[in-house]
Amino acid sequence: MNEKIELIKDGKRLDGRRFDEIRDISMKVGVLKKASGSAYIEWGKNKVLAGVYGPRELHPKFLQNPTRALLRCTYNLAPFSVDDRKKPGPDRRSVEISKVTAEALESVVMVERYPNTVIDVFMEVLQADAGTRCVGLTAASLALADAGIPMKDLVSACAAGKVDGEIVVDLMKEEDNYGECDLPLAVIPRKNEVVLLQMDGKLTREEFDKTYRLALNGAMKVYEMQKETLKARIEHIMGEDNGY
Ligand code: ADP
Repeated sequence: MNEKIELIKDGKRLDGRRFDEIRDISMKVGVLKKASGSAYIEWGKNKVLAGVYGPRELHPKFLQNPTRALLRCTYNLAPFSVDDRKKPGPDRRSVEISKVTAEALESVVMVERYPNTVIDVFMEVLQADAGTRCVGLTAASLALADAGIPMKDLVSACAAGKVDGEIVVDLMKEEDNYGECDLPLAVIPRKNEVVLLQMDGKLTREEFDKTYRLALNGAMKVYEMQKETLKARIEHIMGEDNGY
């Protein structure tokens, strides 16, 4: 059982944020030369790299689907990403996050355009400080866009939760560890369609509504940043001296 620590003092959170304030975020796309698409996000103390490979022919052949591509996601927490060295390789948690990420992304990626193929999406968490599934999903959707894979929209994510009895957005590690509830959410912003919603802890109906709204608001802010990041990348490419 975790020892209780005071997470809110004088109406402020441990890192000085307001209840409705997300952590500082910086995003970049096109960071890996050899991947079809890539993105790197620093979100608070989280550092996550996403790389996309494909679409390419799927092997073994019996896994191929003649009507669509397989969207295969792999979330990995690096051994050096957390305080106590994490045992390398997959575990229950990473398998779960990989699965929910693939399901969320499948609702936007036009997989039917690439029959018999696989699109591999890797999310490498280099430094973790809670909310990494939201960061991973946000980075993965940027990397897919960077790869030029047709999508109906981006997927944007953010968590909210309950800490010392208060509803707050975008929990950091201490809040996630010692708080009462964490609710990660991902959305297709243009359709306002929720594609990931998980909850660890308990909330009343009223608290849930408030938490949900805060997470959704956070995800919408993330969406604006994602669009800005992609726009800046295109402007950079257009501005490059390409011989014309
Ligand atoms: P998320 O990162 O999406 O919030 P969790 O709620 O499962 O997912 O994890 C919260 C945080 O706990 C992670 O961001 C990470 O900082 C830490 N954590 C998760 N798994 C481990 C682990 N195996 N060893 C040490 N810390 C971990």
